[in-house]
Amino acid sequence: MTITNAVLPASLRVSILHYCMEKKPHEACGFLLGRIDGATLSVTRFLPVPNIAARPERQFSMDPAVLIPIVTNPSSLYDPVVGLLHSHPSASSAPSVEDLQTAWRSMPSHWIVGLQDEEHCEIGVYCYHHFNHDPNRPGSISGDASSFTAIALSVVEDHDINCHP
Ligand SMILES: [Zn+2]
Repeated sequence: MTITNAVLPASLRVSILHYCMEKKPHEACGFLLGRIDGATLSVTRFLPVPNIAARPERQFSMDPAVLIPIVTNPSSLYDPVVGLLHSHPSASSAPSVEDLQTAWRSMPSHWIVGLQDEEHCEIGVYCYHHFNHDPNRPGSISGDASSFTAIALSVVEDHDINCHP
């Protein structure tokens, strides 16, 4: 089923934004853990991963020493990995062409923190589809509209999250 809604606790939103701001001017990256129930994805945890890209201001590459234990040993985690997050230190939260070509495309959700505007940090949540980049088609350079869909994000107060009643 297609994911159309994402739910993020307010406290996690603060931690994510704080971490991304702290990493400026570098891109921050990490995983989101949580649950998928039908069309709704609920985030329960953010796991930052160090960015070891050669040009961390413009791209991210997750440190394998931290990444591998997370993706190969899910039993040690509270919930499965449901999303991949990275920041755009000086751009909006829209996916870049490079983002849409990621090998992580099949991840259930992609989260981009746009820090272009200091006053207003924005978090975009997307589902990526197959991306056909055709250099002969000028319009394709900025990413095809059909290559991703936006997921509606709801930030909820932590006490609204139903743990175990
Ligand atoms: Zn990006």
